[in-house]
Amino acid sequence: MLDRCGRTIDYLRLSVTDLCNYRCRYCMPEEGVPKRRHADMLTLEELTEIAAACVACGVKKIRLTGGEPLVRRGIVELCRALRAIPGLEELCLTTNGALLPQLAAPLRQAGVDRLNISLDTLRPDRFAAMTRTGTLQNTLDGIRAAEEAGFHHLKFDTVLIGGFNDDEIEALAGLTLEHPWEVRFIELMPMGPCAGWDKSCFLSGEEVLKRLPTLQEIPSQGVARRYRLPGAAGTVGLISPMSHEFCAQCRRIRVTADGKLKGCLHSAEELSLRGLHGQALLDAIAQGIAQKPLRHHLTSGGSDTARTMNEIGG
Ligand code: SAM
Ligand code: SF4
Repeated sequence: MLDRCGRTIDYLRLSVTDLCNYRCRYCMPEEGVPKRRHADMLTLEELTEIAAACVACGVKKIRLTGGEPLVRRGIVELCRALRAIPGLEELCLTTNGALLPQLAAPLRQAGVDRLNISLDTLRPDRFAAMTRTGTLQNTLDGIRAAEEAGFHHLKFDTVLIGGFNDDEIEALAGLTLEHPWEVRFIELMPMGPCAGWDKSCFLSGEEVLKRLPTLQEIPSQGVARRYRLPGAAGTVGLISPMSHEFCAQCRRIRVTADGKLKGCLHSAEELSLRGLHGQALLDAIAQGIAQKPLRHHLTSGGSDTARTMNEIGG
């Protein structure tokens, strides 16, 4: 389906919970988020019904996110139900990896096609300090479990943070030398807890190109610019919402765990899908797509949404 600027919308990011087992300093407050009433969250049946309606409106790819999607009870059953939606071409999931040792194989069996794993640092002390509750070893065990389960083309999402992990750009990109993985460096967006951080924390993706002068650009689809280190099995991606706004190429809509359709991560506009069924649900999704904002205002006025990242799904 086309939005009002002619963009094809075929990608749904579906948040299945705003809860998380980590408390990453840039994403969530230390005390976590106030627990929403169970009754306010979409049930597994509602998530499936909304996903199927989005597919009927032209969505071909769904990414499950959160919060941490793997803490949602019934996540494997949900994946199985989503994979059975006729017309859905790809089911992906973004995770911090902590629960992959138990869940990677069941998720693969349920039909999940691809995993993105967040990995901001390869140093155990930094990992513990940034996530507040996580250990690097847990995520490394999760990566091994994902490979063993058959997820071979893993993507790693690394938020670039000045003074925290900019001295690890070479080491993180080095993971692609021997594995068919993609390490994607993402510019930190000023929202939620990090909105007031010092400007030295906000690095441009160009920093990666400066540190890795041998990177060779390769063709890319989607919002990431893609590169390869000479002779590498995998690739390096740059996702630069701040320095290289990609709104004109954005194909996404989002649905939050409490059932609000959002045309843009940073927009305050939300359309409630809860309680809608059949044609009314299809009409609401079509309306949400039609009203997708032209662009975000991150670099001019900041994010317009009052939600934190874990409440929308990054
Ligand atoms: N819990 C899962 C995870 O961490 O992969 C999925 C949800 S998390 C909100 C999705 C992605 O958003 C993660 O890669 C995280 O690093 C990223 N993220 C969170 N806050 C961000 C911010 N302010 N700027 C850029 N990326 C952010
Ligand atoms: Fe949790 Fe992901 Fe946010 Fe970290 S980035 S606190 S893992 S939702």
